[in-house]
Amino acid sequence: MEHKKITDIGGSFKLHNGVKMPYLGLGTYQADNDQEVIDSVKDALEIGYRHIDTASVYENEAGVGQGIKESPVAREDIFVVSKVWNSEQGYDSTLQSFEDSLERLQLDYLDLFLIHWPVKGKYKETWRALEYLYDQKKVRAIGVSNFLQHHLEDLLTDCNVIPMVNQMEFHPYVVQQDLIDFCNKNTIQYEAWSPFMQGKVFDLDICKELSKKYNKSVAQIILRWNLQKGVVTIPKSVHSNRIATNADIFDFELSNGDVAYLDSLDRGERIGAHPDHFDF
Ligand code: NDP
Repeated sequence: MEHKKITDIGGSFKLHNGVKMPYLGLGTYQADNDQEVIDSVKDALEIGYRHIDTASVYENEAGVGQGIKESPVAREDIFVVSKVWNSEQGYDSTLQSFEDSLERLQLDYLDLFLIHWPVKGKYKETWRALEYLYDQKKVRAIGVSNFLQHHLEDLLTDCNVIPMVNQMEFHPYVVQQDLIDFCNKNTIQYEAWSPFMQGKVFDLDICKELSKKYNKSVAQIILRWNLQKGVVTIPKSVHSNRIATNADIFDFELSNGDVAYLDSLDRGERIGAHPDHFDF
């Protein structure tokens, strides 16, 4: 997986069903469901992003959909992702949640639908609903988020479709290389959420050092590290200048030593909840 080809902003990694997932996307968590998210989606698409990540719990799917609608980029050229929230899990309620997401987004299919968190006693039923939606061709790929190895092993013993993606907290303080290796071995594409630690990464000395060394911003170093590790990444910004510079990462390459250096910072320090101990 480390040898996946990185070309330009339009590039993608191939999922195990052959669907191409653009490796750089726009995150939208905490982007307001008004002109803010509409403009950031339109700006990202204009700059060349072809992947937008939202979720029902972000309460901004309507704005995301509006941004897509107002953009001149064709729907079929955009990879749109949403997620079923914890309180919506279960078979029928997941099907309903999917339809609600589509309606808010003003779309008739999604490119990827994810189980947001591994809700105990629920996620297998939820997965069956995702398999149904996939069979019905209402979604081009299905996956999970916040699934540790034991959640994946449990699901893999009992599924018809292997998840195509696992979206996880991923940044220098939470690398979880064992989980990445497990996903790679099982053809599950790894994807990073909060690649900037919601802003904290900009204060890390090593990132500042690498920034100087490569003459690129800390944000660019981090995103380039994600891609060189074969990890899809979805940095969030609502500022068009940042959305643009976050995508200016295709004219340099980190050395293997510096990739390993960033990997070595892992200390299992999460900014989000632990997937075994969340209470929402
Ligand atoms: P990020 O790590 O992407 O950090 C976002 C923060 O960084 C914002 O405050 C943003 O500010 C700032 N920022 C962005 N670019 C720059 C830059 N170039 N220079 C300085 N500051 C910058 O955090 P998120 O938690 O938003 O994670 C990314 C995405 O992952 C989410 O938006 C969401 O789509 C997804 N996610 C999924 C989760 C899951 O459970 N599956 C959980 C959390 C997130 P500003 O917007 O003001 O520019």
